[in-house]
Parts: sequence; structure tokens; C-alpha cells
Amino acid sequence: MSITIPFENSYARLPDPFFSRRNPTPVKDPQLIAFNTELATELGITTEGNDDLAQYFSGNTIAAGSDPLAQAYAGHQFGGFSPQLGDGRANLLGEVLDTGGQRRDIQLKGSGPTPYSRNGDGRAWLGPVLREYVVSEAMHALGIPTSRALAAVTTGESVYREQGALPGAILTRVASSHLRVGTFQFFAARRDTEALKTLFDYTVTRHYPDAETPTDLLNAVIDRQARLIAQWMGVGFIHGVMNTDNTTISGETIDYGPCAFMDVFHPDMVFSSIDTQGRYAYSNQPNVIVWNMAQLATSLVQIMPNRDQAVTDFTEAVHAMPDVIHRYWLQIFGRKLGITNATPEDETLIIGLLEIMANNRADFTNTFRALGTEKARDQFLNPKDFDTWEVDWKQRLNGESNPESIMQASNPWIIPRNHRIEELIQAAVAGDYTLFETLRGALATPFTPQPELQPLTHAPTSDQVVRQTFCGT
Ligand code: AMP
Ligand code: MG
Repeated sequence: MSITIPFENSYARLPDPFFSRRNPTPVKDPQLIAFNTELATELGITTEGNDDLAQYFSGNTIAAGSDPLAQAYAGHQFGGFSPQLGDGRANLLGEVLDTGGQRRDIQLKGSGPTPYSRNGDGRAWLGPVLREYVVSEAMHALGIPTSRALAAVTTGESVYREQGALPGAILTRVASSHLRVGTFQFFAARRDTEALKTLFDYTVTRHYPDAETPTDLLNAVIDRQARLIAQWMGVGFIHGVMNTDNTTISGETIDYGPCAFMDVFHPDMVFSSIDTQGRYAYSNQPNVIVWNMAQLATSLVQIMPNRDQAVTDFTEAVHAMPDVIHRYWLQIFGRKLGITNATPEDETLIIGLLEIMANNRADFTNTFRALGTEKARDQFLNPKDFDTWEVDWKQRLNGESNPESIMQASNPWIIPRNHRIEELIQAAVAGDYTLFETLRGALATPFTPQPELQPLTHAPTSDQVVRQTFCGT
């Protein structure tokens, strides 16, 4: 036996409608591309040699204690409700209690068809697998709650997409759970209050032990999601598919499809090829998460003793959410400017900078990182716009005790830029994983300058700019 995963499964013990027991579909010739040893250690996983890892992380071999299943869920996709989604290309292998005592899911993504696949093939190709690997690990290193990447393998099989035949791959991802707003919607749509109560109890035990009522749970999820979305905004991240089935109950980022970090700042920025209306544009993310929380609230109403009262209370909680997001946003952007504890009076300064950045096609990441240095004004087409703003900013910083160190810890030196990800995918398809490894390494400490990797921090030249990203399906 070359791997030991201390499985301790709980989801597999829930009643029937929650999932379909299902093994991954074996693949022809699995090869290991990446294994996250640090995360494996955190999960209590032990290995002896790397020989068989590809067998386990492709689903060809099922580790002892694993009880593979596909989870059922529903969801609003771009505002339209699908009562039946579910893991169409994923298998939950099981859960472990990590070294901190926290329960974590281990899931294969791209591991073959399930009863929820609809017309899909249950597979993934190498590009989206590498993208999710790199971006989710980068998010973690940036201090943003997220699913993690434990392993990636190629399958030795082709996957057929619009672009033609592509190399198949499987990602092993780890999350504090895969419970989604859509999991609650699944049972609410069926008016299955028994299952909703079971799900409520399960969720509380797993994520919110202090929550006694569905109202407590709703408020707790609202708070975590509010903070998460404010954190995304703070690094210029656009998720791209904020459907309710991609919105976790834990408050972790999940499902990296057509996601992207902005280069040039613009509030209306959209990358996803399928988001033609800009529903999930950068600055619309706070509105969308409030809408998604309203869908969670609607599902929870069904298990409230007094539904009319619940509608009143939940409406109030959801209506209060924009202010919660705004408070987190203010703190995060305040720190990006070196302000320890921003107050509403600082808003003008923050918005003022964002406005001139948008008007001057300034690079989001590099502008914030350069604040306080000579290089900041170079990010602006008209540097005088910045000079004017800078006078007010410098004045505001009088009295702040250590703005430089706050800024260094809040403004990353490096982010996973789209053009670099595209480049690494193309190289990997051709068999060269050097850039994948280099980026992985660089993004592990995103706040620390690594001079020899400076080119990876450059904004794209006009012919390098990636204007659209695509779903992994
Ligand atoms: P996503 O937009 O990736 O979150 O996926 C939405 C739904 O489509 C989920 O139920 C997925 O499991 C399903 N899905 C996505 N890609 C595939 C695929 N290649 N085969 C089967 N189901 C898929
Ligand atoms: Mg999804």
C-alpha cells in the first residue's frame, strides 16, 4: 500500500436522496502531474513512494476507507432555476479530519459520468485542471478562503470539446465541504422538509456549531460570503460563474471555471465567454451574492415554524447584507492604502483612486503594489491624475503608524495573470510543465518579491491580453 488516507466519512451516511453512490470510471494511462505534499501532510495523508499516486488520484484504485459518491444539488444558473444538477463529473472520495481537527472533503473532478451528468461526458481537459490548480492555490496563499488542489493527473485519454481532441485530466480538490446554496435548493424545490432539516443539522454540526436556528445559519453564511466577496474585490478577482450551485455554505471560493484576475482595472470587467449580459462582472459580484443569499433564505423558510415571521426576518437579514459587504470592503481597501482602520470618511479617497485607475487604464495589482514608490504614477496614462490624488492620500496617512508594512501585506506582488495561465496551459499540452511549476512556486508567497521572477508580474502587452475565458466543461 503506497498511500494512506485516514477517511472518516459522514456525508455517505446521510439518507438516500442526498447522493448517488458511484465509483469513478477508470482511465487508460494516468500520469501524475502534481501532488501537493504540504496539503497532504495537513490532511494526515501518508505516502510511500510516488509510484501509485496517479492510480489513486485518477480513481483507478480506490483507497481503503473511501466510499465514492456523487452529490445531488440544484441551482440557479444565470438566474434560471435547474431543480436537478449535482456532481456530473465529480466523485467525493470521502472526508478526513485534518491535523487541526477540521473535516475536509476529498473529491475527484473529471472522474467520469454520474447519474447527474445529463448530456456531459463527466470529464475535464488539462487546461481547466491546471487553471484550477494554480488559481485555487494562489487564492489560498493570498489568504482568501478557497477549495484547495491536492493532486492533478493526466488520463491518457482524449476529451472532445469545441477546440477538438484535448488531453484529459483529473483534479483532486479539497474543500471544507461541498455544501452549496444549491444543496438547500435541491430539497426545497421538492418540498422535502425532512431532508431540509437533516441538511440543516448536518451543516450546523459541520460548519456553524454555534447556530441554533435557520436564522442563525442564514446570518452566519451571509457574514462569511460577504467577507469572501469583499476579499475577491480586494485582489481584482472575478469568479465568472456565481451560480447558486457554485456558492458554498462554508464561505469558500469554489468552482474555478472562467474566473480571472483583472489586469487593467475596470469595474464592468467580464471575462467569461458565456456571461454576455455581464451578470457576474467585477462590480456586480456584491449584488449577485445578495441575490444568492436570498435563494438560500427562500429555501430555509420551509423549515421555519412561523413562515410569515421568517419571511420578514430573512428579508431583513438579506437587505442588511450590502452594508455587511461594504464594511468588509472598506476595511480591505483601507488596508490596501495603508490605513489600519478605515472609516466611511475614507471612502472618497478609495473611490477616488479606483476612478482614476479606471480612467487611466491602470493595472490593478501593480498600481496598489507601487503605492508609495516612484513607480505608482507610471501606471497612469495621465500621471498628473495620480499626483493630485496622492497629495490627499499622503495627508491621510499622517498619524497612521506603519502604512508601508500594512500595504506590503495587503497588496500582492504577484497574482496568477490570465496570459501566463494561457501560456502555461499551452506549454503543458505540448508536454512542458516548467511554467506550471514556476508559477506554482512564485504564487506560494505572493506578497514577497522574488526578483528573478519579475517578468511574471508584468501586465500583459497588447498582444498578450486575454479578453475571454471559457468554462471548463
Ligand atoms: P459548473 O458550471 O462547472 O459549476 O457545472 C454546472 C453543472 O454541470 C454541474 O452539475 C456539473 O457537474 C455539470 N457538468 C459540468 N461539466 C460537465 C461534464 N463535462 N460532464 C458532466 N457534467 C458536467
Ligand atoms: Mg459547479
